[in-house]
Amino acid sequence: MDLIELSWPAVAALSKDTPVVFPIAALEQHGHHLPLFTDSLLLGEVLRRAKEPLATRVLFAPLMWLGNSDHHLDFAGTLSAAPRTYLDLLNGLAENFVQHGFRRLVFINGHGGNDVPGKQAVFELRQRHRQRDDLLFLLATYWNASSKPAEPNASLHQREMGHACEWETSMMLKLAPHLVGDYQSTKPVEPGTPFTPATRGWITKERTTPGHIGSPHVASAEKGDQLFSAFAADVVALLERVVRWDGKSWNG
Ligand SMILES: [Zn+2]
Repeated sequence: MDLIELSWPAVAALSKDTPVVFPIAALEQHGHHLPLFTDSLLLGEVLRRAKEPLATRVLFAPLMWLGNSDHHLDFAGTLSAAPRTYLDLLNGLAENFVQHGFRRLVFINGHGGNDVPGKQAVFELRQRHRQRDDLLFLLATYWNASSKPAEPNASLHQREMGHACEWETSMMLKLAPHLVGDYQSTKPVEPGTPFTPATRGWITKERTTPGHIGSPHVASAEKGDQLFSAFAADVVALLERVVRWDGKSWNG
């Protein structure tokens, strides 16, 4: 079900155990060869594929295209909600639906910069409603939602998601090839090992001059189709678990 198509009485009549999904993405630089709206387009397609098997069992809010992209602001065109603004935004979206009586709220994320504020938001939500024992707040980033597509797929060069990389460029070639520029002549930009396992604060321009991180030159539409299928299946599997949750247990 799509929230944007329902009347308010239709929403009010839903079971309050219906999982509510907030898709969260971004509008930010994606190198010389991909459009600024890449993260929003890709998450939209993952969810388009995931919605069909979930049919009437899950309620989907519209995709929130404004993300936390301050680290990309040195590149023209990037739009960003500053980290604390974004944290308030996510808290507010979820609180709206707590107020409407819903108990299972899930952020499905399609942008790396949303990961930390998203995790902080679900943490804060749970603390704020600590007297309740019937609430579920989740955040999942679609490329980390379980499958490791590079493991069974030897054709994938990258082992993990980068930025405007082999994986994102492949999915864009599948979804909207007319929006993909000259990716074949891009040079690989390695993710590096910045004081691993410590977490280093970073801005994008200190890691990459063109804006991409990874190996877009080896992208293909075929790889993109495989990635979309794997990621959509992961999202469906997660949301099936949310539907099956008994409403109280820690495990799910
Ligand atoms: Zn991206």
